[in-house]
Amino acid sequence: MIKPGLKIGIVLSIILVLPSLFFSTYEIGNLSQNEAVIDSVYSSQMESILFSINQYADDVMSAWAHQLDRGGLEIEQVLEKNYSIDALAVIDSSQFLLYPKEKIGKDSIQTLKNYLKRSSLKNATKIKTLQRYLNTGYQKIEAINSDFKGKSLFVFARKLDSTSWQTVFIFLNTDKFILENFGPKIQIIAQNRFFISVFNADREVFSNVRHDEPEKNIRQKKDIWLFPGYQLGIQMKGNTIEDLVRKRTRTNIILLIVMDIILLLGAWFVYKSIRQQLRLTQLKSDFISNVSHEIRTPLALINMYSETLEMGRINSEAKKHEYYKVINTEANRLSRMVNKILNFNRIESGRREYHFVITNLNEEVEVILENYKQHLDQNGFEIVFSVKDSIPDILMDREAFSEAIINLMDNAMKYSAKLKRIEIVTESNAAYTCVKVRDFGIGIAAKEQHLIYDKFFRVSTGDLAHKVKGSGIGLSIVKHIMDAHQGKIDLHSESGKGSCFSLCFPNRKK
Ligand code: ADP
Repeated sequence: MIKPGLKIGIVLSIILVLPSLFFSTYEIGNLSQNEAVIDSVYSSQMESILFSINQYADDVMSAWAHQLDRGGLEIEQVLEKNYSIDALAVIDSSQFLLYPKEKIGKDSIQTLKNYLKRSSLKNATKIKTLQRYLNTGYQKIEAINSDFKGKSLFVFARKLDSTSWQTVFIFLNTDKFILENFGPKIQIIAQNRFFISVFNADREVFSNVRHDEPEKNIRQKKDIWLFPGYQLGIQMKGNTIEDLVRKRTRTNIILLIVMDIILLLGAWFVYKSIRQQLRLTQLKSDFISNVSHEIRTPLALINMYSETLEMGRINSEAKKHEYYKVINTEANRLSRMVNKILNFNRIESGRREYHFVITNLNEEVEVILENYKQHLDQNGFEIVFSVKDSIPDILMDREAFSEAIINLMDNAMKYSAKLKRIEIVTESNAAYTCVKVRDFGIGIAAKEQHLIYDKFFRVSTGDLAHKVKGSGIGLSIVKHIMDAHQGKIDLHSESGKGSCFSLCFPNRKK
């Protein structure tokens, strides 16, 4: 059969702990998925920003082609207006015209001329395709290979009339083009939210960020269509979206873990208190059966002896006297038992009242021993009482104190085996005045010492402890009495060697 405690544990796990742990695991899994989704949404958003910058470069080129087409600006004007264009060349079947910016030296002009001539031959097919496009109304600008470092070369076709064509080459300084055209566009797009930079290999050509700003770690990069080898990079400013998502995920995970810990603690608390209740219920039912047993013995004896006396069969006065004595002793035992239960009940319901008086501990113990001595003698106990002279008077409820000491002496008697000796010692220190009750009986195992003051608790292991009758409420009453006196109860005990209980009362303030 499954133990009730285990059963509660299983039920709590099934209805409380497992679902929430499942939920947490599921949520934590979801969070990292969400993180990936959000990350990809932002990646594509940044990608579209990069796309629009790329597109803008294309538009600038197309605008130039348009300006250079029929009806547009004069070649010199275009050259002058665009600081990044180093030279323009117009080629057709009859002529080759090169329009260089003044700063290009004579040698360079010749080299460029030769290069462009070779290029127009080399790219003849490409140029034919561009003319075909133009026929259908689409003027396309194409990048072609440039052997000049830092310069880019573009070509497009323009129509003079229905039969004659010209090929136009744009020779430009790539870095200047980027600074002149990308710069303002990037500033507008980036506003204050993104770092956008242009790189050529690892060299940063342009960035919207001033260099004293914190180091940026650009993760997302895209090639610039028009300029091979050049790349655009983008990153969010401040907290990147990755950081934000990671931070949020971390907070959520921490919250979930904290929630789980609280839940586990709660479940553990519920489990503990239910287990405690079950234990108490079990102890209560043991208590009822123990008390019934304890009451039955004196009742049976009283019954037997009184019946025998009633029948008038006993003639000897001495025998009669002995029978009356037994009846009396057993009746006293019964009444002590009933009083103990009533007192316990009063304590439990908070109705027990105490009447404190100033008194001397030595004197109190002496009176109790005088009354109790006969009972101890009858049971073959030797009692040794050593007093400490001149102990301070203390405040106590005399009746409650007597009840506590008798409980301790009763226990000392019940749990003593061969050596029937009880020592009572009074002593005093600066803070407390104490009385000790020592026996040489079975003692109490260390692991049970903290449980003996619990109501209904009884040690059930060991031969004598098992045989001896008791209710398990005596020490809980003693503890309550000492608490009411703001005193303390201490125990020194060793299995098999005996126990020594001390009741200590606080000294009165002077
Ligand atoms: P009980 O009526 O069972 O004696 P108590 O509350 O007085 O109940 O004591 C609780 C338990 O503590 C006892 O069942 C016993 O096992 C243990 N105990 C108390 N006093 C002694 C003692 N002097 N020696 C050994 N065990 C003791």
